[in-house]
Amino acid sequence: MCPKFSNGFLNRLFISCAEILIFAIAMIIILPCSGCKKKPAPAAYAQAQNSSGTNRTESGADKSNQALPGGSEDNPPPGPTHKHAAFRERQTERVRMVDRQIRRRGVTDPNVLAALKTVPRHAFVQSRDLRQAYNDHPLPIGSGQTISQPYIVGYMSEALNLKPDFKVLEIGTGSGYQAAVCAEIVSQVNTIEIIEALAESAKKRLKELGYENVFVKNADGYFGWKEEAPFDAIIITCAAGFVPPPLIEQLKPGGIMVLPLGSPFGYQVLVMVTKDHKGKTSSKELLPVRFVPMLGRSERGR
Ligand code: SAH
Repeated sequence: MCPKFSNGFLNRLFISCAEILIFAIAMIIILPCSGCKKKPAPAAYAQAQNSSGTNRTESGADKSNQALPGGSEDNPPPGPTHKHAAFRERQTERVRMVDRQIRRRGVTDPNVLAALKTVPRHAFVQSRDLRQAYNDHPLPIGSGQTISQPYIVGYMSEALNLKPDFKVLEIGTGSGYQAAVCAEIVSQVNTIEIIEALAESAKKRLKELGYENVFVKNADGYFGWKEEAPFDAIIITCAAGFVPPPLIEQLKPGGIMVLPLGSPFGYQVLVMVTKDHKGKTSSKELLPVRFVPMLGRSERGR
């Protein structure tokens, strides 16, 4: 039997159906729009985006293509934890060191400048030299060795053209400072120190400071680190008369090596060795320098 409906009932039914229909259409429009709303960018990334148009060097050249995604000079990319109190200490001195000693002399890679502003150099020098930690010269670190002048650390780091996915080899860990600067920019640093006491103290210091991406080995760096090779970049911070052949072998095609070449007590020059994609090497002299000598196998000559 068919039920009988009054006009009033049919009107109300029609109005209810129309309301449901309007509600459903509204939901179809609103829901996907709220779902596709952009999430706010993380602060560092947003800042890098905002600064991309103004990220220029003092010479006016646009260096924005050298900045890391998510990183800029004042916002270092994610990497080491920076939780240690030393990172919050003496920041003004680091900024002044970078501006006056390094940027002014022509180092412009924003990642290198950011790294130098971040790494607490005073945590890498002897306690008696704390007041001099940000001065424009090398300092003793014990065992007759030195931590390099900040400008040279910046200059060599820039010459390596470091990229975030790089694996870097350093010969001559010393205090661990140069390794920490590189570790702010690249994903992994392997560093070799021939003097056991220095290797041990650098390992401890780097661990305490949160540099989980730095690996220290006590050995003669002449032979490199075969199990970890090849390396995108190699930095040698002690002077030898010639480039150790194992290190050339362990450099990736397309890679860069920077090292001081010359007599331990006479003329030395910073040299950049590049290996092309066919494995052929070529070298270029950069600037005169004075480094401590490379010890071990290289002292016996070729
Ligand atoms: N990069 C260091 C400073 C390096 S001083 C820093 O940031 O503090 C040079 C270092 O090279 C010294 O510690 C010295 O002991 C080390 N060294 C010398 N010959 C070496 C070799 N054959 N292999 C590894 N390290 C060597």
